[in-house]
Amino acid sequence: MTSQEIRQKFLDYFQSKGHLIVPSAPIVLKDDPTLMFSNSGMTQFKDYFLGYKEPKATRIADTQKCLRVSGKHNDLDDVGRDTYHHTMFEMLGNWSFGDYFKENAIAFAWELLTEVYGIPKENLYVTIFEGDTSENLERDHDAYNFWKSHISEDRIINGNKKDNFWEMGASGPCGPCSEIHVDLRSAEEKAQVSGLDLVNNDHPQVVEIWNLVFMQYNRKADGSLENLPAKHIDTGMGFERLCMALQGKSSNYDTDVFTPLIAEVEKLSGKKYTGILESEKDIAIRVVVDHIRAVAFAIADGQLPSNGGAGYVIRRILRRGISYSYRFLDMKEPFLYKLVAVLQGQMGTFFPELEKQGTLVTEVIKSEEESFLRTIENGLIRVEKLIQQTIADNQKVLPTEEVFELYDTYGFPDDLTRIIAEEKGLTIDEKGFEQALNEQKQRSKADSVQKVYDWVTLEEKPENFVGYDTFESETYIT
Ligand code: ATP
Ligand code: MG
Ligand code: MG
Ligand code: MG
Repeated sequence: MTSQEIRQKFLDYFQSKGHLIVPSAPIVLKDDPTLMFSNSGMTQFKDYFLGYKEPKATRIADTQKCLRVSGKHNDLDDVGRDTYHHTMFEMLGNWSFGDYFKENAIAFAWELLTEVYGIPKENLYVTIFEGDTSENLERDHDAYNFWKSHISEDRIINGNKKDNFWEMGASGPCGPCSEIHVDLRSAEEKAQVSGLDLVNNDHPQVVEIWNLVFMQYNRKADGSLENLPAKHIDTGMGFERLCMALQGKSSNYDTDVFTPLIAEVEKLSGKKYTGILESEKDIAIRVVVDHIRAVAFAIADGQLPSNGGAGYVIRRILRRGISYSYRFLDMKEPFLYKLVAVLQGQMGTFFPELEKQGTLVTEVIKSEEESFLRTIENGLIRVEKLIQQTIADNQKVLPTEEVFELYDTYGFPDDLTRIIAEEKGLTIDEKGFEQALNEQKQRSKADSVQKVYDWVTLEEKPENFVGYDTFESETYIT
């Protein structure tokens, strides 16, 4: 089954169960003060749960473009290093707004996975919420009992609040959840270690694919829980992980969601992707094909890379991709923008915004690459020198003054310095760096005329960005 067919089958199944199929909301949220990006399918329906808006239908399904690079759900550090966390991914979801609850949600998920998609039952495990005394939350006996009619009891696992109580962010709708995990290991491996021991344990072949959330609370800004006006179902299934399971692969990157992009990177870089977990080259290729999706979809949805807020997050993702390909794929010239056409070919039919905004997306990425590559060259040489010196001095922490100089004078991103240092077993002095940043902000406030001038010229090298506050207050007010 191709990924296109897998996506369509999901939507068709839920349509046949009376769900209205709606398009994905934009990946960038423009008017939500608590969240910059859609980090799950439910984000666009938040107001329905809270009772602020009437839902269009009581049953809805879709695939939602998600981004998990900031806030409560931030997977950036895993991306490229594992085979199943992405920055941007699609979340397939079905919702009930005050309509069906646990029994149907569980029955639908089970039927779709085992009968429509044909996943062998013996490859599946499910988890339920064990309860939490500190918040007076009970164990989810109902979910347990409903699961019992589909799956043997030894495959139903208790899970703690971290894994089985879903929350969108620091505040907002939330509730206990029940998750489905798929064991993709060989029979031999299964005989050696039970899949039960590997659920929620970061095993690359025993992965969580679907989360069924039983929405019944709202986490208020003061941290307390209140009951929602009604009970709802909110589910989210990782599309790329589902493709891995159905296409018999052991990595999301080996599915047809990623292989065309990987083939293009191989062609452009002359490097072969071998799928090795620890290989720097393979990590770089995974990072590149992952990050291009996040950046392309964000730009297509109207978020240009910039110096502040969501735009800065997008700029940093792109720069992370550029840094990896510069360092490990020897790509010293812009090339990421060439992947946009491949992405369009693959996803443009389902997500027409990629087609419509294709030229803009391509041009923006290309010019970002050009400007960042100029910065990187110089900065990398300096970081390497600094690391060598620190090691030679028998120190574990890079000297703060030099780290700050790299950032401030040479425009080299501090997170990149951090990553490179960590790779060599070194760290940076976070407190000292923050203090230097603050002092710098104070200095620039004292010289606002100079500052305006700086920002004009810094359009060219915005890596000297000193923080969102400074940018907003000083560029626009003075
Ligand atoms: P994990 O424990 O693997 O990090 P999660 O519990 O954080 O996943 P949920 O918030 O429950 O994920 O989201 C619902 C589904 O979305 C998950 O079951 C998974 O299939 C998928 N998913 C979550 N995060 C990612 C990601 N970074 N990349 C790809 N798919 C993801
Ligand atoms: Mg997670
Ligand atoms: Mg999880
Ligand atoms: Mg989960």
